[in-house]
Amino acid sequence: MKTINDFNFKDKKALIRVDFNVPLDENFNVTDATRIQSAKTTIIKVLEDGGSCVLMSHLGRPKGVEDKYSLRHLENAIEDIVGVELIIAKDCVGAEVEELAKNLKPGTVLLLENLRFHPEETSGDRDFAEKLSRLGDIYVNDAFGTAHRAHASTTIVADFFPENKCFGFLLAKEIESIKKVMDNGEKPVLAVLGGAKVSSKITIIENILDKVDHLIIGGGMTFTFIKAQGGSVGDSICEDDKMDLALDILKQAEAKNVKIHLPVDVLAADAFSNDAETKVIDVTQIPDGWQGLDAGPKSKAIFDDVVMQCKTILWNGPLGVFEMETFASGTIELGNSIAEATKNGAFSLVGGGDSVAAVKQFGFEKKVSYVSTGGGAMLESLEGKTLPGIAAILD
Ligand code: AMP
Repeated sequence: MKTINDFNFKDKKALIRVDFNVPLDENFNVTDATRIQSAKTTIIKVLEDGGSCVLMSHLGRPKGVEDKYSLRHLENAIEDIVGVELIIAKDCVGAEVEELAKNLKPGTVLLLENLRFHPEETSGDRDFAEKLSRLGDIYVNDAFGTAHRAHASTTIVADFFPENKCFGFLLAKEIESIKKVMDNGEKPVLAVLGGAKVSSKITIIENILDKVDHLIIGGGMTFTFIKAQGGSVGDSICEDDKMDLALDILKQAEAKNVKIHLPVDVLAADAFSNDAETKVIDVTQIPDGWQGLDAGPKSKAIFDDVVMQCKTILWNGPLGVFEMETFASGTIELGNSIAEATKNGAFSLVGGGDSVAAVKQFGFEKKVSYVSTGGGAMLESLEGKTLPGIAAILD
């Protein structure tokens, strides 16, 4: 696996695919600069070697050229974070940009305009990728958030740098973290899968059964498993058409010696509302008119016990409807347990879908080993898929 550390960028131009798809407010201020901060070490390494950077990214989902999606809006945020004045290009391909790139001096940074102003980016157009490739000597992919897309700048462009392509620090860290869990995690290995639906996690569950010793299943998924085993789930979210699948997963787990932990009690509510009437009920005896919206106290204690036994922990998905304060404590307590286990030496990875939102909301970001920057890309990695953006560098 070639990373940016395998190259010296002296007098070289690095064409870096970053993920600067950051949220902006109505005045175009960056409201969460995490993704820019995450790219900083890669940019600095190139500059300190005596090279220059050509940064390319998408922002939002523009339909053609739309000023509100111009990367120009990120100029101040990037300059503040990286500490270097940017040269701003009006486009990402064409004679004018090529001229700017050609004249780049060591230590300088050129920011290209939004790649998705050209439909050829998302269609993975080869000619467009070739035009991008003219702007640098070494291609660096540091955009994990789009690594699951075979777009021109994330995948196809790598073909034009057969020897000179590598992962940036961020993408390398993401790959290492996934490997640490999926391939060479210290045992016992635990995955905690929460969230709303079995159907959206099924491929992950099936793939992960070969990798883990323990699997905690929580959140809305719980009730499909409980009902399939004959329990009463009341009005809880449940996918009746996935009950056979749930039983099959339990069987597979047994055959593979994976210990599955489902909630034994829930905090149930008489409405899907923060102000609903609530009570703790056995997970198999939820009456009609009530729905399980968070893990109950016995479940939390069992989960804490499992987490504390494990040396490698993957967490994807909340244990309850954490967006409502009344039903957030299962997710918070799980976060606390994972933080504690991490302090005791476990490796913990959080990522995929909305998990990162929960982790950030409750301040667990710094208390786990790694928080992935890619939602969809992380989910696909956990499903065992090879991401095209990663494969293109490894080729
Ligand atoms: P996912 O994107 O699949 O990880 O699902 C996250 C969503 O699952 C969050 O918005 C939670 O509110 C929701 N969720 C978690 N537990 C439950 C539950 N018991 N009933 C309904 N929704 C839930």
